[in-house]
Amino acid sequence: SFKSFTHFLSHSLQAKMSRPVQARRLEGIDKNIWVEFVKLAATYSKVNLGQGFPDFPAPDFLTEAFRRALGGGNHMLHQYTRAFGHPPLVKVLAQFFEKLLGRDLDPMTNVMVTVGAYQALFCCFQALVDEGDEVIIIEPFFDCYEPMVKMAGGTPVFVPLRPNPPKDGRLMSSADWQLDPAELASKFSERTKAIVLNSPNNPLGKVFSRGELGLIAELCVKHDVLCISDEVYEWLVYDGKQHIRIASLQGMWDRTVIIGSAGKTFSATGWKVGWVVGPDRLLQHLRTVHQNSVYHCATIAQEAVAQGFQRELTLYGKPESYFIQLPKELQQKRDWLVQSLDGVGLKPIIPEGTYFLVADISQFKSDVPDDPNSDEPYDYRFAKWMVKNKGLAAIPLSAFYSEAHKNNYTNFIRFCFAKEEATLKAANDILQKWKQEKTSS
Ligand code: PMP
Repeated sequence: SFKSFTHFLSHSLQAKMSRPVQARRLEGIDKNIWVEFVKLAATYSKVNLGQGFPDFPAPDFLTEAFRRALGGGNHMLHQYTRAFGHPPLVKVLAQFFEKLLGRDLDPMTNVMVTVGAYQALFCCFQALVDEGDEVIIIEPFFDCYEPMVKMAGGTPVFVPLRPNPPKDGRLMSSADWQLDPAELASKFSERTKAIVLNSPNNPLGKVFSRGELGLIAELCVKHDVLCISDEVYEWLVYDGKQHIRIASLQGMWDRTVIIGSAGKTFSATGWKVGWVVGPDRLLQHLRTVHQNSVYHCATIAQEAVAQGFQRELTLYGKPESYFIQLPKELQQKRDWLVQSLDGVGLKPIIPEGTYFLVADISQFKSDVPDDPNSDEPYDYRFAKWMVKNKGLAAIPLSAFYSEAHKNNYTNFIRFCFAKEEATLKAANDILQKWKQEKTSS
């Protein structure tokens, strides 16, 4: 009968659907901290110092450049541009990085434009990492490195920055978190394909010193290892410190891919314009991944970023340069947040760079009692409790650690201070009120 035929049909269709739909490369990488915490912040936060983006406007010269590109006479800016980067942008990036690196660059082969630094990272791992390759990642790290290595079939090998608390009672600095040279050296072997370096480092704000970079460079050269150098916070360095590019160290240019982001550089994270700079022997393979995934990036955004860089090239090293003004403003914001947090006993670790700050929550533990039955790290529960009960959003530090090391770092949360003065004042009000409630209860 028709009924038994449809029964047979639905049965056989059901049987077919029991096979897994997802590719094996997705195993174990389905969790993502941002999905959960961005939603929590949107639902509960009055003051959001969680995810890393400015709440102040991008500079006028940049948004005006976008408007000009959009409404100016060149209607071709609404069409595809060169796949590996809009010619005006790769040209000005090559000129700019020639200055920074002190070497000649070919805009067509030494530079590629990507959909933010995020896609640049994806291209690196897909192009350079094979099944069975090991990739060294320095903890704490920008969380996407680990799943991206795994998706490429590689094995992440973690090496921690170890905190050395100062003995003189001063606040800790991100410089007090250091690699143990012997421990770092022990992670390199013939299986090591690459190391990911992120200086200035998200989440700590550590700016690696010349000595530390020299040590990494020496090991890369000795073991023929590539360096994926995530430098998206290259302009956000404070207290007169200097950002040193590892690609400029002896033997490193040929084995390094530099990654940058217009989102971070020009306070326009929503534009999602990023780039890679490096030798053609590496970039040619990144181009293969790019052309088989994204291929073209938005033309108008690239045109506007090109004009932004053109302006910065003219003003290079001058006080009006955005790359000089932005860190000056952010240093002031950092100092406000340091004061707010220190004032209530959330001991801040003073960042040398980036727009992030990590603070110690130990003195606030009594507010959020531990739950021995929860398998969630304590800092996750603390950050969730804080946004739900105090309206203040931050990110748990253990999100920036591998599964195996998460439980060693559950006493910290990360704040973003790329925020308007009013936002930071509102955060301070919440913290002060919280402290008063603590002392009066
Ligand atoms: N690398 C690091 C270290 C970052 O912090 C971020 C952004 N949070 C990115 C890469 C991604 O940058 P983009 O927004 O340009 O994709």
